[in-house]
Amino acid sequence: MSLNRAWIHIRGIVQGVGFRPFIHRQVRERDLRGTIKNTSSGVELELEGERDALERFVAELPEKAPKLAVIEEVEVRWFDDCKGFTGFQILGSKTEALRDTLISPDIAVCDDCLRELLDPADRRYRYPFINCTNCGPRFTIIRDVPYDRAKTSMSAFPMCPDCDREYHDIENRRYHAQPDCCANCGPEVFFLDADGKRIPGDAIELARKALKAGKIIAVKGLGGIHLACRCDDPEIAKMLRRRKQRDEKPFAVMCRDVSCAEKICRVSEEERAILDGFRKPIVLLEKREAGLRHVSENGYVGVMLPYTPLHVLLFGDDFDMLVMTSANLSDTPMMTDNDEAVKNLRGIADGFLLHNRRIQTRCDDSLCWALDGREYFARRSRGYVPFPIRAERALEPILACGAEQKASFCLSRENYVFPSQHIGDLKNMETFEAYTGQIAHFERLFDIRPKALACDLHPDYLSTEYAAERAEREEIPLIRVQHHHAHLASCMADNLVSEKVIGLIWDGTGLGTDGTSWGAECLIGDFKGFERFGSIRPIPLIGGDLATKETERVAFALLREAGLDTSNVGNVAIYETMLRAGLNCPLSSGMGRLFDGVSALLGIKTKCSYEGQGAILLEAAATEDDGVFPIVSEGAPLRFDWREMIRAIVTAREAGEAAGRLAARFMNTLVEMAVQMCKAAREQSGIKTVALSGGSFQNMYLMARLPRRLENEGFRVLRHRRVSTNDEGLSLGQLMIAEAALHGSLNAGG
Ligand code: ZN
Ligand code: ZN
Ligand code: FE
Repeated sequence: MSLNRAWIHIRGIVQGVGFRPFIHRQVRERDLRGTIKNTSSGVELELEGERDALERFVAELPEKAPKLAVIEEVEVRWFDDCKGFTGFQILGSKTEALRDTLISPDIAVCDDCLRELLDPADRRYRYPFINCTNCGPRFTIIRDVPYDRAKTSMSAFPMCPDCDREYHDIENRRYHAQPDCCANCGPEVFFLDADGKRIPGDAIELARKALKAGKIIAVKGLGGIHLACRCDDPEIAKMLRRRKQRDEKPFAVMCRDVSCAEKICRVSEEERAILDGFRKPIVLLEKREAGLRHVSENGYVGVMLPYTPLHVLLFGDDFDMLVMTSANLSDTPMMTDNDEAVKNLRGIADGFLLHNRRIQTRCDDSLCWALDGREYFARRSRGYVPFPIRAERALEPILACGAEQKASFCLSRENYVFPSQHIGDLKNMETFEAYTGQIAHFERLFDIRPKALACDLHPDYLSTEYAAERAEREEIPLIRVQHHHAHLASCMADNLVSEKVIGLIWDGTGLGTDGTSWGAECLIGDFKGFERFGSIRPIPLIGGDLATKETERVAFALLREAGLDTSNVGNVAIYETMLRAGLNCPLSSGMGRLFDGVSALLGIKTKCSYEGQGAILLEAAATEDDGVFPIVSEGAPLRFDWREMIRAIVTAREAGEAAGRLAARFMNTLVEMAVQMCKAAREQSGIKTVALSGGSFQNMYLMARLPRRLENEGFRVLRHRRVSTNDEGLSLGQLMIAEAALHGSLNAGG
């Protein structure tokens, strides 16, 4: 028998994910002895036992580790001498405090729990709150740290002796599962009628019956309350739209399983893996055929699978899919509270499937595409938050306050950045309150006191006002970061890159350093600074913000600038007068505006009811076409002059070419324009890496082509991987830029 001692350092994110109980079990099973302790970059083990057992322990770590653990590196050193450990001991360390505050996101119900849920012999048969160490609510039920039951919504439910036994049994898969419960001791589900009156009987059965009958039912999930209704009847979906006052914005759909999703959408292997993984975000899937217009007017449908036991039971075998949209009123936050829902959904919901486990923290469903085998986020929220992003080095503690319409914030501590969940549009008062509330919650949970604040350059963003007011009150530095520079830095940090890059930053709008609105930028820079290398010819926005809704105003401006006939466009005389007088016609170089204008020009969408609608429908309308319109770029910064392109579009339109082909040709032109611009930037700077960021890169037509084209030209292409490409991802970039400034000045000062 050969005994050995192994020193094992596991680097990655292995705290707050049930890693220590897992190691504990592994060590016992393999008859090993030793110690475990947390380090700043992972955990350190010292184990003694048979060489075989130790080697197998190491070899099987990655595959057997808890799903949430991110193991980046395992380093092993072998020793012949043994210290004679007798048991397994957890050692304290100075970094313990932070390690213990890492908190797991909410995890979809796991296969083991599903099996028990549907097993008539199991004591939790059909119990809608079944969970275990590997699944269930986490972030959304936590009130405070350290994370244990007393500091969660589960404190209201003392464990029964059976659950308590499981909880303390290290062999049990519910060992230290804080929300562990059963029908004897845990939360209960109930059904209320439209007036909030409790209806006796099987709550889930009652809800199901109501749904079948075409009713709209509020269903309480993990991070908020949804409105659900049948998906197979357009009239019911229209009724939901009417009641919610949501005219055109797409609804998400919850499908019973992947094969049900395949009935309406194409599902690739990569998409299936994300759709049916343990986080269960909404995945934007391409429709099989035009249809389901009552759900989504574009080429994609947002699909998710049941992620709580309650959802699973609600579906049963009765539904293939249900419309499942956040319960809220026009742009207010998703509802989380029972009484609030009953009160505010009067006239909207016909019934309520609720329960008495409090949602402590709101967390919307995450929303993403599958791109190259991983999530590409439009919204990073449930299932991902508050999982941190690892930084390459220890960071100063900073709060970055994000943008406005797609608000988010980031906090840093040591080697971690904690991005917030999806917050929403701060111009809504309740959303703003949720924003400040979540900042306070995160600071408490992760024990962070910011030394500095970062915000956007735009003085009118409510996030900027918050940051400015707070910086003054706390007498700490405030670093104002240009919008597109922050996008660039966000994409760099997202890819763990710190050297200078070319940034292709395309979005709707962001305040530039020259006081005008930017939005189709080619920057060269890093965390420390940037230069504006290229952009597009500015577009006059007739009526300012109004032009983002009434996009025919943009079409008018494009035509007029290009010297073309404008008589086919709406209120010509008024627009003409405003433009002539320069009356409320701010200039914008926003890519979103160019999309809006061309979309209107092609007759695809002339009046938009939500942000980005014109661009989304233009993408959806595009058909096969390989052509490219003429590209003219000149000046410094190098500006793409779209007038030649607009003339070509109009000529082609007059020749009777289909709008769909022209939409494709327009986007092809942007791809080639981008490639040309990046090549010019490379020529000047010698930089070969291009970072893509900004809301315009939520366009999958562009994402399917532009990175490939750039790679063919010898560029390395970075795109977002862990945070959203739209303004929600902005706070990460703000933080990195502020940190670089602060770090630099601290070093200089000390
Ligand atoms: Zn489970
Ligand atoms: Zn129990
Ligand atoms: Fe932006």
